[in-house]
Amino acid sequence: MTHKMFYEDAYLKQLKTTIVAMEPAEGQWQLITAETIFYPQGGGQPGDQGWLLTEDGRRIEITNTRYSADRQHIVHYLNGTSIAGLAAGTCVTLELNWARRHRLMRMHTAMHLMCSIIPAPVTGGGVSELQSRCEFDVQTSDWDKEQLTRQLNELVQAALPVSISYITEQQLDDNPELVRTMSVQPPRGLGDIRMIRVGEGIDYQPCGGTHVANTAEIGQIRIASIKSKGKQNKRFNIELED
Ligand SMILES: [Zn+2]
Repeated sequence: MTHKMFYEDAYLKQLKTTIVAMEPAEGQWQLITAETIFYPQGGGQPGDQGWLLTEDGRRIEITNTRYSADRQHIVHYLNGTSIAGLAAGTCVTLELNWARRHRLMRMHTAMHLMCSIIPAPVTGGGVSELQSRCEFDVQTSDWDKEQLTRQLNELVQAALPVSISYITEQQLDDNPELVRTMSVQPPRGLGDIRMIRVGEGIDYQPCGGTHVANTAEIGQIRIASIKSKGKQNKRFNIELED
């Protein structure tokens, strides 16, 4: 099982580790390391991108990161055919595209803030570098972009701490209201459930994503648009100001 260093510290940008396995598939080399700082695509957050640095000074692009089918391993997708000298046991350094990942973290935490200002079940969502979408099961269309933007920025400026904790599957079963998403449940049978808490009583829900440590880090943010996606489904697109 790949050791998930991004859960121990979401701010690690580089990591020295060892290759455990690599194989060609889908026209790309897929590489598994003993541990990783690369977040695998899931929970509405895209997989990380970055580089694999070899000891002889090469810099190989990592185009995506995903879980293996059994979720036991994290697979890095390499761009390029120059993998000479790489094999199981080789020491390498993983380097994140930190500018991109930090934006994804800011966006992901901002989406949790949206959950706090729109008290309705979540029907969908997707974190992205430039524009993220949050969808809620709301009927009325009297949501005001400017008003929501103000509320969102108040929560950002309040500099609320974001903390991570774990509860058991049984505790989650006993408190089903903690799950805000209507159709997606946290994966079961993989141990404790990871919970993200924003401030006190602002937002608390299961989430496997990477987050900033404090909402102030999100910076100025705005609701770019509100769109109707079906009778009881509204999509709110959010954008970072920088
Ligand atoms: Zn989340």
